[in-house]
Amino acid sequence: MNEVFVRIALDHPLPTLFDYRCDPALAPEPGMLASVPFGKRQVVGLIWEVAATSEVPADRLRDVRAVCHAVAPLAGEWLELVTFAADYYQRSPGEVALPALPQALREPARWSRLEEPPRTFRLTDEGRTALPDALPPRASALRRLAAALAERAALDAADARAINAKALSVLSEWVASGWVETIDRPSASALPAGRPVLTDEQAQAYETIRAARGFAPFLLHGVTGSGKTEVYLHALDALFTERPDAQALVLVPEINLTPQFEAAFRARFAALHGPASVVTLHSGMADGERARSWLAAHRGHARIVLGTRLAVLASLPRLALVVVDEEHDPAYKQQEGLRYSARDLAVWRAKQLSIPVVLGSATPSLESWWHAGQGRYRRLTLARRAVADAALPAVRMIDLEDERRRGRASVDGLSGPLVGALKARVERGEQSLVFLNRRGYAPVLACDACGWVAGCPRCSAYVVLHKPESAMRCHHCGWETRIPRACPDCGNVDLAPLGRGTQRVEETLAALVPGARVLRIDADSTRRKGSAQALFSDVHAGEVDILVGTQMIAKGHDFRRVSLVGVLNADAALFSHDFRAGERLFAQLMQVSGRAGRAGLPGEVLVQTRYPRHALYQALSRHDYVGFADATLGERRDARLPPFVYQALLRAEARTLEGALAFLQQACVALAEIGTADRVTVYDPVPMTIVKVANVHRAQLLVESGSRAALLATLRAWQPALRATKGALRWSLEVDPLDI
Ligand code: ADP
Ligand code: ZN
Ligand code: ZN
Repeated sequence: MNEVFVRIALDHPLPTLFDYRCDPALAPEPGMLASVPFGKRQVVGLIWEVAATSEVPADRLRDVRAVCHAVAPLAGEWLELVTFAADYYQRSPGEVALPALPQALREPARWSRLEEPPRTFRLTDEGRTALPDALPPRASALRRLAAALAERAALDAADARAINAKALSVLSEWVASGWVETIDRPSASALPAGRPVLTDEQAQAYETIRAARGFAPFLLHGVTGSGKTEVYLHALDALFTERPDAQALVLVPEINLTPQFEAAFRARFAALHGPASVVTLHSGMADGERARSWLAAHRGHARIVLGTRLAVLASLPRLALVVVDEEHDPAYKQQEGLRYSARDLAVWRAKQLSIPVVLGSATPSLESWWHAGQGRYRRLTLARRAVADAALPAVRMIDLEDERRRGRASVDGLSGPLVGALKARVERGEQSLVFLNRRGYAPVLACDACGWVAGCPRCSAYVVLHKPESAMRCHHCGWETRIPRACPDCGNVDLAPLGRGTQRVEETLAALVPGARVLRIDADSTRRKGSAQALFSDVHAGEVDILVGTQMIAKGHDFRRVSLVGVLNADAALFSHDFRAGERLFAQLMQVSGRAGRAGLPGEVLVQTRYPRHALYQALSRHDYVGFADATLGERRDARLPPFVYQALLRAEARTLEGALAFLQQACVALAEIGTADRVTVYDPVPMTIVKVANVHRAQLLVESGSRAALLATLRAWQPALRATKGALRWSLEVDPLDI
């Protein structure tokens, strides 16, 4: 027989595999990449199946052009992960699989450069003594390999393969055992960094994780500064001691947090497992770098893959432990393309492989808290900070109404008590952090005389004033213009910036606290690659007195000299129409508060608010996550909101709002004809809160059910009708949306 057939996943929305004819000499296997013609183009797809026949008529079958042999096929388990994600998030397998691969794998011209560089091996001193005794008596092929290593100064990969076909995988096991080292990648000689003695709570959490067998989801609920990282490090250490070839996946929510973790992991594990044992994966990496990390994971050289949400789709053939740090963080949700939750997929992978997964947070998502309450996740608690005499900070409200009544006006949004507290820290040489979740100078520029407000011509939104850049910028579409000198409607030159963002607070603080070194960290000040890292190092090095920033400064950082945190402009979220706004605000404030007083300096948090007695702030000042979570879950249950129901959103974009709504209306009619599964509720189409972005109008429709299976079955049945519905520029289905 001189032809076989392959079924290939392509990055195309049709939820199907595409059949091609293939020359058997190309030796196709499932999990390999192939270059194929598609329409007039040549594209790369993933071989899903190889078959002896095809249902497609011979004259319509086209030929596979090339198959990539430089990279070992993706494992069946990985294809299963993709299948699950595609089905759950209502996408085609190719739409999940191909974007998850590094660009280099999707370009046939680059395939040849992906070949693994030949490696050279030699015995270590330890191997010279231990290896002969460790070999089983009749393993003659292994003995020949060991003898060759003992005789020669170095053995290259080709010679090794000539001795024994499986030599390379044997050698990598011996490398993992410390008996053999590779000369191109020598193992580091640094001693392992000292391991601190675990606190009782840490030890108990760690022992429980270590003893786990099979699928074991843990919710590690540890207050800020309780030393969750140390629990992860111990768990990893125990894993590698038991299984030297195992791999672990560690997810963090933000690119900015990877260097801190990477340093800790490398310090702890480099000496044990070689410098290439820790790799990072995130979207800020250059193409080539990302491909190297991905391949190291895929080839099993990387023991720890540390990454942001996209790393959850990495190929990890020996995955044995998963950690999701700050599991509550909304950044784990991808908001475009495949709208997946990396946290949820991480749990699914652990279940698929029957391994433990540790979800860590000081403020778990209510979904995870609910699972723990139901006994589906096992709860591990760290109630105290790890560093001796580092207590949780004292949280106080500054009542802005009261300040006003007493005639103590705030200067540009900064109250007297907060400014006083900042000055005191600067005098004592301690650091402070001022948090507000709005970048730019001012969110609105308005004319007092006629009421004109600077809006974006392309969006239903105001433009934000950016003073250092002398620009007005739309945060929704990126549209930019110069700051007008006068009101375009009435000519008034006295335009007033209303409200404040980080740039304005930075400016005000420089004036109010003379001599203080003020640094701003937000998406604008860190736009250039590497600049966030440089700014954070300045903070760690003590070269900053007051750090002003958005949620970028709130997360995970272990600032050792911060003793004061000020919170501005938090009130708006208390009255948001978004039912998750309270949960999100509470988590952010707990996180940012957690930056204070981590290393023994008494910490203080001052929250400026008009509602000092609001239940959320009261819970915050008691550090009472549990009270807040249980009360909020009670409200969600009464209101029939997630996690007590499952939701999906159909969104449509059109030239006009009427067009977007009409599309959704037709979709509703189509769904009524198909008939929804039992207990599925379909709501009316509504415009989105910011209805127009970049001249496109947006509307959405919510579908909801108490049964996840019923919801998914409905969406699946609906898809063909949606594809046939006309009138929208774009539409998308999102399962488990975070913003509705
Ligand atoms: P979390 O992630 O829980 O907020 P971290 O993991 O950042 O906390 O740890 C907080 C601080 O406590 C870090 O500076 C860490 O080095 C320190 N630490 C953690 N465990 C211990 C321990 N057992 N003994 C002493 N210091 C510890
Ligand atoms: Zn005007
Ligand atoms: Zn805009």
